[in-house]
Amino acid sequence: MKTIYLDNNATTKVAPEVVEVMLPYFSELYGNPSSMHFFGGQVQRKVDEARAKVADFLGAEPSEIVFTSCGTESDNAAILGTLDSYPEKRHFITTRVEHPAVNNVSTYLARKGYRVTELSVDREGRLDLDELRESLTDETVLVSVMYANNETGVIFPIEEIGEIVKARGIPFHTDAVQAAGKISLNMKKSKVDMLSISGHKLHAPKGIGVLYIRKGTKFSPFLIGGHQEKGRRGGTENVPYIVGLGKACELAKAHLDEENTRIKALRDYLEAKILEKIPNTLVNGDRLNRLPNTVSVSFEYVEGESILLLLSDLGICASSGSACTSGSLEPSHVLRAMGVPFTAAHGSIRFSLSIYNTKEEMDYIIEHLPPIIQRLRDISPFWKDYLKVQGKT
Ligand code: PLP
Repeated sequence: MKTIYLDNNATTKVAPEVVEVMLPYFSELYGNPSSMHFFGGQVQRKVDEARAKVADFLGAEPSEIVFTSCGTESDNAAILGTLDSYPEKRHFITTRVEHPAVNNVSTYLARKGYRVTELSVDREGRLDLDELRESLTDETVLVSVMYANNETGVIFPIEEIGEIVKARGIPFHTDAVQAAGKISLNMKKSKVDMLSISGHKLHAPKGIGVLYIRKGTKFSPFLIGGHQEKGRRGGTENVPYIVGLGKACELAKAHLDEENTRIKALRDYLEAKILEKIPNTLVNGDRLNRLPNTVSVSFEYVEGESILLLLSDLGICASSGSACTSGSLEPSHVLRAMGVPFTAAHGSIRFSLSIYNTKEEMDYIIEHLPPIIQRLRDISPFWKDYLKVQGKT
């Protein structure tokens, strides 16, 4: 069975070019970049080259790039590292739709006695910037707002938010794990102080991330240890993955146009055909300000997990907008924050594309999805009730 992979917001295929550049660092080039001898020195130069590539990709200076183990570490380090630098300030602002890498840190901070403000979103997943303005106080230690949402793809107005936050002199972090590689990022023109990215969302391996820290930003290391990463993150560098991430960033920069033309067109084609062929279907999130590769779609009166399993039987990989909590399938915190009605939120599916997807794959999905939804609705008591109320039975 052929695999049709449309779950690229969960993780991506490691690009063959990335695998190729990594391989020597598992075998012949195994030196420690901190070693004084030539054998370590040659590896250090490759780490420096990778850092320069990541910096170029982000429009940053190489000295502003800190390698971490993943997006989660970058987010944790940005938040906890900033809070540690300003122990007297006890108010943290974020949003209700962050990834657990931020969301659960804010829960942890609330438990530790911090005042936490989680900004709300509207039905389209958009923030109210007046709510942000009114939330900022002299006690606010940090504002952390994601660049783009992993479930809906909705892009937040990060530069506008940066203007508001920086006008009050408050540090500003953004989780750009889903944005990097899909939309252009340029730290030179940005108000952002810290930005997180993760390798496995842009065709590098799982287990490598970056925290961009603008020069002059106050920051205490989250991983305390050796002098690596200029004292900002202890631990011997993961050289093969760092080299791989450098290559992935180079490729992502080269593929940015394709993301925003061919991939966006494929996503729009898939979305339009789904809406055309399947009644009682809606798209979640602001369709104008959205990542080019993502669509979250809700099929009313059916369960997302059942759809996923039937798609999976056909080799199609997507993901649902539910999380299994205490044995029951709850719509995700993102869809709940947006106020998506339960009848729709339960039947939510996210398709997320990459440069490896084709038109033939979209056609295969468009051929097989409508009968799957029909099959599930035929056995859904909620669908039957709906038809009765509509006078259609
Ligand atoms: N932030 C966002 C928006 C994400 O989508 C993810 C992963 O899904 C993460 C953070 C965590 O990244 P990692 O898996 O590298 O820890």
